[in-house]
Amino acid sequence: MNSESPKRWVVIGGGIAGLLAARRLAAAGHDVTLLEADGELGGRLRHIEVAGHTLDAGAESFATRGDAVQTLCEELGLADAIVSPTAAPAWVISPGRAYPLPATGWLGIPLRPFARDVRRVLGWWGSLRACLDLALPTRGIGDDATVGEVASARLGKRATERLLAPVMSGVYSRPLDDLPLDAIAPGLAADVRARGGLIRAARSRRSLGTPGAAVRGLVGGVATLAKAAAAEAEERGATLRTGVEVTGLQPPVADGVSRRTTAPSTPTRWPWPSPDTGRPLSWRLPRPTLATSPSW
Ligand SMILES: Cc1cc2nc3c(=O)[nH]c(=O)nc-3n(C[C@H](O)[C@H](O)[C@H](O)COP(=O)(O)OP(=O)(O)OC[C@H]3O[C@@H](n4cnc5c(N)ncnc54)[C@H](O)[C@@H]3O)c2cc1C
Repeated sequence: MNSESPKRWVVIGGGIAGLLAARRLAAAGHDVTLLEADGELGGRLRHIEVAGHTLDAGAESFATRGDAVQTLCEELGLADAIVSPTAAPAWVISPGRAYPLPATGWLGIPLRPFARDVRRVLGWWGSLRACLDLALPTRGIGDDATVGEVASARLGKRATERLLAPVMSGVYSRPLDDLPLDAIAPGLAADVRARGGLIRAARSRRSLGTPGAAVRGLVGGVATLAKAAAAEAEERGATLRTGVEVTGLQPPVADGVSRRTTAPSTPTRWPWPSPDTGRPLSWRLPRPTLATSPSW
């Protein structure tokens, strides 16, 4: 990416990743067109109106472990909009029940099952049941075990449904039965086996991190970040198109002349086999052309 040899780039997808790529390429002097299938830019960084309030529909905070997002906010002129979250606990609201999440947890796993705020959610029986995790053998837990199966067997249904599910299925957008332990933290399944349970593994992970919420937010919502990135990408000369879905990539025709196709009858996906060798052409293609719908 060097302004002395500008090239033509097409960025597929106008979520925050695509917008930042477009912004960076345009800043380096390249000719950039971003294509977004949806009618709006931002992807999962999106505002939603609820009862007259503008809320974040997707990401609502950013981690402060590194300073990448903080720096980005500053670059985009949003430094003054950065705010720390309130110290009040997050609440779970479900049909017929509303409760604050316990203060001492790691991704919903209660680190102290008999703490007062855990007992308030689980009751004595639920807390006692969760403690079984400290005593049950861990031998049978495979590397591909899911959070759902391990948590319900070790902590019980109540803790799994009331504490782990609201946090983890929200963060990872998957039901716990489809969420391998190792997908939430690499090596977690082995850690659970070695340390003797979910609670002990969670305690060790939590002790490695900063206690409390290591996140920040933006006044006006995190979706503001996508809007600012889009505005700056356009200012730097990038063309941002919405309502254009990329439905395929085509290899250049034999004589090397690029061909652009609109709305192909059969969308092509990477990698597709080479007609000569049957091997995937994948990224070895010099300059694939795009097929888009509607026409671009
Ligand atoms: C409910 C929820 C809460 C979250 N909370 C947080 C949080 O608090 N903090 C945090 O850091 N992260 C959070 N995340 C995760 C974070 O929002 C995402 O990781 C991030 O926004 C992903 O950005 P992206 O650009 O990679 O992808 P996306 O935002 O998914 O953008 C991809 C874009 O590509 C477009 N696209 C896809 N295919 C095509 C195509 N063929 N042609 C053209 N366009 C196409 C899509 O329409 C989309 O706009 C949350 C996610 C969700 C769903």
